[in-house]
Amino acid sequence: MTVIVSELEEARTLLREAIDQANKIVAFTGAGLSTECGVPDFRSKNSPWLRYKPIEFDLFMSDVLMREEAWRRKFALDDIYGRAEPGRGHYALANLIASGKMAAIVTQNIDNLQQMSGVAEEHIIELHGNGTYATCVKCGLRYELNEIRRAFDATGAAPDCPACGGPIKAATVSFGQPMPEEPMRRALAVTADCDLFLAIGSSLVVYPAASFPSLARQHGARLVILNGEQTPLDDVADLVLRGDIGDILQPFAS
Ligand code: NAD
Repeated sequence: MTVIVSELEEARTLLREAIDQANKIVAFTGAGLSTECGVPDFRSKNSPWLRYKPIEFDLFMSDVLMREEAWRRKFALDDIYGRAEPGRGHYALANLIASGKMAAIVTQNIDNLQQMSGVAEEHIIELHGNGTYATCVKCGLRYELNEIRRAFDATGAAPDCPACGGPIKAATVSFGQPMPEEPMRRALAVTADCDLFLAIGSSLVVYPAASFPSLARQHGARLVILNGEQTPLDDVADLVLRGDIGDILQPFAS
């Protein structure tokens, strides 16, 4: 039976107990973890990410005008949200990783804030990529955004890879783009192997990412969902903590 708690101190106490009883924790994070850092989530009201129809991967690849539009949008949003700093939730998870209790953070986020909180790359599994750099879609070569931006501002042309001629794209997973194989494989492995799965700040509606909480439960882990609103997986969870992520995780952040 699912226990649902919305009182702050009780939520903190029950989370502390769940963490104390666990040995191998996996956090699964979504855009709600970063809203207190000033980065809006995807589905909440007035979402800047839904202002324009997303450019699907096939369209990006086939139409140079769409590639130019994708880069215009990317840099416009980076100007507003690109300077965010990690928040209490990121630091709480960083401390749990440092304590040895948390094995991995599987994230749908693309904002690099978990890395900025001091967590080593080996503990972070990015399911939807990372928006703070770019790669060539064809050969995989990495490019830094500042060099791409300089050229884009000067010419307005979508960048192509000097090495192979392939299109350069922000290193995020677009709608219609296949999920990255290695992160998916690692995420499945840590999910199947944990004893406490903490789903934090996700509406849990984006698949295949949202299948991980149920998978953890099927493999015998305890499932705790921490989110401000109801999710479709609340009924599957052992414990639902409903409230502000930063507030609930604050005691773990320092
Ligand atoms: P979502 O927007 O669908 O869901 C976020 C959830 O977090 C919502 O249920 C919302 O009510 C909750 N929430 C927001 N702030 C909260 C807070 N302070 N305390 C408690 N709850 C809070 O996000 P999703 O499930 O991660 O899916 C969105 C997709 O969009 C992902 O694929 C992600 O890659 C992408 N995205 C990423 C970022 C980022 O990297 N920061 C931002 C927007 C979108």
